[in-house]
Amino acid sequence: MRNCIIIFLYLGKNMANKKITNYKSGRHFLQVPGPSNVPDRITQAIANPTIDHRGPAFSELVLNIIPRVKKIFNTDSPIMIYPSSATGSWESSIVNTLSPKDKIMMFDSGDFALKWKIVAERFGLEIAYVPCDWRAGIDPNMIEKLLKEDKKQEIKSVMVVHNETSTGVANSMKEIREAINQAKHPALLMVDAVSSAFSIEYLQDEWGVDVTIAGSQKGLMLPPGLSFNVVSEKALNAHKKASLPKSYWDWSDVLPSNETGFYPYTPATTLLFGLKEALIMIEEEGMENMYKRHYHHSQAAQIAVKAWGLENHCSIPKKSSHTVTAVKLPENHSANNLRSVILEEFDMSLGTGLGKLMDKVFRIGHLGSFNDLMLLGTLSGVEMGLEIANVPYNKGGVQAAMSYLISNKNN
Ligand SMILES: *Cc1c(COP(=O)(O)O)cnc(C)c1O
Repeated sequence: MRNCIIIFLYLGKNMANKKITNYKSGRHFLQVPGPSNVPDRITQAIANPTIDHRGPAFSELVLNIIPRVKKIFNTDSPIMIYPSSATGSWESSIVNTLSPKDKIMMFDSGDFALKWKIVAERFGLEIAYVPCDWRAGIDPNMIEKLLKEDKKQEIKSVMVVHNETSTGVANSMKEIREAINQAKHPALLMVDAVSSAFSIEYLQDEWGVDVTIAGSQKGLMLPPGLSFNVVSEKALNAHKKASLPKSYWDWSDVLPSNETGFYPYTPATTLLFGLKEALIMIEEEGMENMYKRHYHHSQAAQIAVKAWGLENHCSIPKKSSHTVTAVKLPENHSANNLRSVILEEFDMSLGTGLGKLMDKVFRIGHLGSFNDLMLLGTLSGVEMGLEIANVPYNKGGVQAAMSYLISNKNN
């Protein structure tokens, strides 16, 4: 009898040490590089009742939003807002400007570049898929060389992912534009700015971008569900001759309608309420401040990675993304195991490795509605996770990031 009681006491004690609940206290850390955290102000704006999308209040809303979104892209060009994921506006960029069997140039610079290429393949385009080092991104000299070799100027479009969210590498659009100019090539320039626009300076007109693709759930702080096409006059001219089949995406339907504050179908009304609030927030912060904030957080994250003795997946420091840091794990260590330990122990989601980087890297999103302490909380979760998951690392990454943030407080 006495023995039994001792055994029960022992079992009871053991169970108290085990987690017997899935309850997570406090706020989940959503640190994937999109969708990003949605601030309460935006959540509340979205909670407004749906309105008549054919009524005057709705057109007033859209006409208020469009010029302000243009400012963020630094453009006077027309802009369309689709109720879709960014993948939809990839498709839109293709079907609106190209014809079957057209030649285009794309770059094997990461997993999003690859996914965009698959969309182009499905439309039967002929793709010059330029090899790249996923750790270094696109080499502008290569663009110049290849375009110069295209003597008959058959390439209709050069298609670039500005900030490769899968690799943590940001390409220089200024240099890419210069390369196209040097080659005196008339190809359109289409840019996936899904994880750069709203966080990294984006100069649509100055860079001569013909079609920009963007989404709502990264730097813009909104939930997923809106995407953008910003189109130049040259792109609109190409559109007139483009014969790929299209319906939902057809600029000829969407553009005139959007420009009068309406849609040819039922739009995502409540997300547009959220967009209006996001624009107010961006204007309150100021775009320069917003860019600096993203820059400093990326630097602090990279400093932490270095202090841990781990490698930034991006091998060229000046091309390191300001919105996402992809971290390589040492050989024979699983990035996904680390991620699941961190999710389990600290209720934080980090980005998985995509495509050929699966299990080899994890990605820290530091974009959108974000601040110093959110970054430090994120880095603390990583540092504790490295310890628990038995990944070899040096302590002091969080400390190094803190020192950086303090010393750059007013820069
Ligand atoms: C997230 C992302 C996409 C895809 O966006 P969806 O909204 O998921 O379709 C495309 N390109 C880049 C660079 C991205 O980061």
